[in-house]
Amino acid sequence: MSCCSANISKKVRSHCPKCDEPCLNMSSHTLLHQVQFPDNQKITQDDYAFCPNHLCHVGYFSPSHMIPKQKLRAFKESQKAMLCYCFDISEHLYQSALESGTFKPIKEFVIQQTKLASCACETRNPSGRCCLAHFKDMEKSYGHR
Ligand SMILES: [Zn+2]
Repeated sequence: MSCCSANISKKVRSHCPKCDEPCLNMSSHTLLHQVQFPDNQKITQDDYAFCPNHLCHVGYFSPSHMIPKQKLRAFKESQKAMLCYCFDISEHLYQSALESGTFKPIKEFVIQQTKLASCACETRNPSGRCCLAHFKDMEKSYGHR
């Protein structure tokens, strides 16, 4: 089963200690793939959550540990706000596609790959979650369905 078809519970929420953004809890499996060496050796079996606010310095946090975004591999590679980490689609790129009406092939590509279980959200996306919901949120804000 691909990560995107898993029924993800949204019950467990924490609030970022810095910006108070609601954050979803995640498995330490995702952290192991996201945090740069040598900080990835300090990950414990705690309950971690990811702060999705791009302007906030907090990356992952648990009740006893905080890892800043600058220690994450995804943020070292790029400071862009990413929409889909599996296929390197930035929010800016999708926003332009929505404005010019060329977004459908992009979204269809992502949906297609997701169906083929070629996505890797659990390890690629710092939030450990599928990005398809985020695509829909952006479409709604542009009046698309
Ligand atoms: Zn935050």
